[in-house]
Amino acid sequence: MNSKRDSEHFRGCLLGGAIGDALGWPVEFLKRDEIIRRFGKEGIVELLLGKNGKSEITDDTQMTLFTAEGILRAKTRFVLKGICHLPSVVYNAYRRWLITQGYTNIKDYDFINSGWLIKVKELHEKRAPGMSCLSALLNGKIGTTKEPINNSKGCGGVMRIAPVGLFYAKEYAFDIAVDIAALTHGHPTGYLSAGALAYLIALIIEGEELENAANKTMNKLKEYDNYEECFNSLSKAIELTYSDVEDIDAISQLGEGWVAEEALGISVYCALRYKNDFKKAIITSVNHDGDSDSTGAITGNILGAYLGVSSIPKEWIEKVELKDVIVKIADDLLIANKEDIDENWWECYPGY
Ligand SMILES: [Mg+2]
Repeated sequence: MNSKRDSEHFRGCLLGGAIGDALGWPVEFLKRDEIIRRFGKEGIVELLLGKNGKSEITDDTQMTLFTAEGILRAKTRFVLKGICHLPSVVYNAYRRWLITQGYTNIKDYDFINSGWLIKVKELHEKRAPGMSCLSALLNGKIGTTKEPINNSKGCGGVMRIAPVGLFYAKEYAFDIAVDIAALTHGHPTGYLSAGALAYLIALIIEGEELENAANKTMNKLKEYDNYEECFNSLSKAIELTYSDVEDIDAISQLGEGWVAEEALGISVYCALRYKNDFKKAIITSVNHDGDSDSTGAITGNILGAYLGVSSIPKEWIEKVELKDVIVKIADDLLIANKEDIDENWWECYPGY
């Protein structure tokens, strides 16, 4: 297997996700009939430009960047101090995101000036942030699988988790993603779907073929309690990939994507169905009745990691908002990950 641990695939994963998010955002709350009425029979097929002349990214990409920031800061803290609890560091990164969304009355200011993402003005745009993420982060308690913060299985846990699959080896990615998703999503399907996506991306980065990676992810899920919902959605997605069911009917059989297992199922379906055509996969992943920006983002994460940044139309990369920030974060993840790759680099997951 040829490893994809390089900037081609790290950049592809994060830029791909941002582009899927940006393509889906204008139609996030539209039914397919309405999308077709507005954009023609193929639906939305090109990135629209927002007020600042760029294609707007939403909470999916914003939170993905803050997930990456948390991972990077945790690694730094561990290297410098020898101690670190990763979920807590990522939790603080998410609270900085919360501040960008207008919740500026948070009083424990010690972490607020950490990191540089919070200083990026464009990240302070509000683009329909998810309620589970907002309310969980405002709660004051840190959610865990043992003490769930709520019973949410919204897709907010899975749509932000791709950096975990880039940074950590497959032996660790699933459990780490579960802990990070459980900060805000207490239903097992909410956090297991995040575990599954991170594991899938970790396998892709190792060089696994997409079908094999999807099948291995299903097997991995079986190790966990309450895996069935997520497992069944992935199983159905893979089965539909090999059928002659029309895309739109296949997607509607998988759901609308507002909840985690449906968002993952739809995204895996689109990625597998068009595994050599990034553009077609992303267009398919957003033109449906449901949560278009999240299914676009996750499909973009998967296929961008698999095919690499050179598979993404150049004009899309130029149009997407915060391209340079996304590239910098992807490169930082790669550098921090490679630093001690000859040693036990996965030990940068401390606290366990
Ligand atoms: Mg969104």
